[in-house]
Amino acid sequence: MSDIATRVNTWIDENWDMSMTLREWWSRLATAGYSQPTWPAALGGCDASGATARIISETLGTRGVIAAPTGMGPHMAAPMIMKHGTDAQKAELIKIATGEQHWCQLFSEPEAGSDLASVRCKAVRDGEEYIINGQKVWNSGADAADRGLLLARTDFEAQKHAGVSFILIDMLQPGVEVRPLVTMNGSAHFCEVFLTDARARANELMGTEGGGWAVATTVLGLERKMAASGSARGALTVNGGPKGGNLDRTVGELFEIAKEKAKEKPQAMISSSRVLIKHAQKAGVNTDPVLRDDLVKYYIRSEVYRLTNLRARHTGGSGPEASIAKIALSGMARHSRDLGMSILGAGGMLVGNDSASGGALQYAALSTGGVSIGGGTDEIQKNVIGERALGLPKEPS
Ligand SMILES: Cc1cc2nc3c(=O)[nH]c(=O)nc-3n(C[C@H](O)[C@H](O)[C@H](O)COP(=O)(O)OP(=O)(O)OC[C@H]3O[C@@H](n4cnc5c(N)ncnc54)[C@H](O)[C@@H]3O)c2cc1C
Repeated sequence: MSDIATRVNTWIDENWDMSMTLREWWSRLATAGYSQPTWPAALGGCDASGATARIISETLGTRGVIAAPTGMGPHMAAPMIMKHGTDAQKAELIKIATGEQHWCQLFSEPEAGSDLASVRCKAVRDGEEYIINGQKVWNSGADAADRGLLLARTDFEAQKHAGVSFILIDMLQPGVEVRPLVTMNGSAHFCEVFLTDARARANELMGTEGGGWAVATTVLGLERKMAASGSARGALTVNGGPKGGNLDRTVGELFEIAKEKAKEKPQAMISSSRVLIKHAQKAGVNTDPVLRDDLVKYYIRSEVYRLTNLRARHTGGSGPEASIAKIALSGMARHSRDLGMSILGAGGMLVGNDSASGGALQYAALSTGGVSIGGGTDEIQKNVIGERALGLPKEPS
């Protein structure tokens, strides 16, 4: 075991206690520098390299503790603020490391998805504030968020990329209405958000007015990287922020809640080879040579994805490496869907507890589309690879 893993293990022995609140656990993690290890010490990190950070997060994962705050706050908002923010904005990042804030991304609109620079949501400067009107859609976790990364148009005359501004917005205000959207897998993973005379402080503008596209490009790269890398390490990941309602629960209580939730509904959007093999054994089809061959191919594919993703993370990459990993993940999701349905046969048409798999393989099958669309579709990832890695001509805008 490496020195750092030994140190983290000893620290967990001394600090993990099922009766403490989540707020206390995350505060201890941040004080120790293990919340977001690559960040500076004052902000909940310990200036660790990527390799050391991975050892820290893997050690936390294997010890069965609640993961450090994860999601759009640590992986998108914070690195973007480190790059584009003012010193005052950077000083606030400790709230992300301690899970006091929970962020969402307000980019997509009904008429602006892949072609994001077409956003029509309008922000008008009014003294020390912006007044914002418009509609956003497909916003993951917006119903649990207290802070939003908003892309809005401040100039309707300028060429489309030049009229866009990037603003940080408080979600918990009367002008922001969030409506969860239920998708075909039965989850309300994302929301539509209506902004009606919503307000944002002018000092929460990122970069310059009309200069938001450069900031958005940073966030899109970070999003690709996050979407490609799958879930965080830890026995359990939990939403922070005031709206999540978890900060003052004990960590023991949170494990109980998660256990009950898992009984209600499957959670995995992609089935691992271990899960698929278990279901093949249960269905008595694990001796079928064609299925066995496909399961081995899937195992190899999962390993290739894991290594591709490690490469993307190693390069710190939010560019073409992350796009390659994201495409590899979409391919895995489709393969897992097809294998799951082959294993279940006609039983694949049943969902929930009526099904032999408890609905897990069906849930993953119905989630496949979301994996390849969220974080930028496969076609958009291919455009990124073509333009940025292969030097092919840019698409006309
Ligand atoms: C699970 C999930 C989570 C999401 N979370 C968020 C979120 O938190 N915040 C947020 O703002 N949005 C979010 N989205 C929205 C997501 O970013 C958009 O759905 C995505 O960018 C595609 O946009 P669209 O749906 O408008 O499809 P369109 O852009 O209309 O695309 C339709 C089809 O055309 C193809 N296409 C479009 N343009 C090109 C091109 N130039 N070249 C080749 N093919 C092209 C696409 O690949 C796709 O197949 C999420 C989506 C999903 C599925």
